[in-house]
Amino acid sequence: MFRLARAPDLMLAQHWINLLQQAGIACHLTGQHLQGVAGEIPVDQCGPDLWLEHERDRDLAMRLIEGDAGDQSGSRSHWCCDSCGEWLEPQFTVCWRCGAERPA
Ligand SMILES: [Zn+2]
Repeated sequence: MFRLARAPDLMLAQHWINLLQQAGIACHLTGQHLQGVAGEIPVDQCGPDLWLEHERDRDLAMRLIEGDAGDQSGSRSHWCCDSCGEWLEPQFTVCWRCGAERPA
């Protein structure tokens, strides 16, 4: 098992799972059930995490989910830093990790 990425929210995580499964990539989601425990566990400490069955699928999987993120580049959607690959909240215009500006 290979941990590919942590999704910014559960809906997107499930969307990614669908995308990857359509491409024939074996993948799993963890942490999705914990989010139902409102107030008990901070959401940012329990996933959802996207796992691949085989690490060799990593490059294709990343292309799929990054390409998908590019399709919804509205001002309110999460975005992926071009420089370091960090996922960022919609309200940020600069990557907190490496300082790169949000792609247009
Ligand atoms: Zn960055």
